[in-house]
Formats: sequence, structure tokens, C-alpha cells
Amino acid sequence: MPEKTIFKKIIDKEIPAEIVYEDDHCLAFKDSNAQAPVHLLLIPKKEIRSLAEIEQEDQQLLGHLLLIINKLAREFGLSDGFRTVANTGKDGGQTVDHLHFHLLGQRPLDWPPG
Ligand code: AMP
Repeated sequence: MPEKTIFKKIIDKEIPAEIVYEDDHCLAFKDSNAQAPVHLLLIPKKEIRSLAEIEQEDQQLLGHLLLIINKLAREFGLSDGFRTVANTGKDGGQTVDHLHFHLLGQRPLDWPPG
């Protein structure tokens, strides 16, 4: 068995996280190295390594994740806007091999990224 990722350990409640939302399909928690006043991570409970590995059967799950991002953005008061990022692979800067969406807000965010 490959070793569990940090995020799988959070799903399995083996390590703590500041969980802000959970349902049967996904989990959202505060990023431990926040880059904005609001910096959440939303992850599917299904073990998908990245956006590069999604499949047709994940279509409904991915739509669900986007709707939860919308819900969290409203709940966290991001009415001036927010950024959603899915770093993917080595060049994308992905450091945890479990699909995750960053949700950042409550400050102006620069573009383009570095
Ligand atoms: P990425 O670089 O896109 O793969 O993002 C991984 C993110 O996970 C980083 O922003 C980290 O700060 C965050 N992170 C890593 N470990 C934890 C943890 N145990 N709890 C919360 N966030 C974490």
C-alpha cells in the first residue's frame, strides 16, 4: 500500500485540521500556511491525485466541489471576489498529491502568479 498523503490522513481524522465543512464527498479546512485572511483547501474524499487524473466518472463530484466553493465563499464573506487555484503537478507547484482547490480571499490578489 502506498503511504497515505497528509490530506488522506486528515480525511481519516488521523491528524487534526481546522475543518470548516464536511459532507459525504468532500472536506474543507483552513490552510496551515495561509496566504490570505481566508485560505481554505477543499478536497474530495475520493483519492484523486490531481486534476491531471480526473475521469469521466468524476464529473458529478467535480461539479459538487465547485458548488461547495461557491457556498464557502459566501459563508466566509468573500463578496468582493476570491481566487480558486488547483496547482497541478511539478510545474504547477503541487506539493500534496491529493486533488485540492485553494480558496483565497479577503485581500486583493496579484496576477499573474510567479
Ligand atoms: P499545493 O502546494 O497546491 O499542493 O498546496 C498544498 C497546501 O497544503 C499548502 O498551501 C500547504 O500550506 C497546505 N498544507 C499542508 N499540510 C497541511 C495541513 N496538515 N493542514 C492544512 N494545510 C496543509
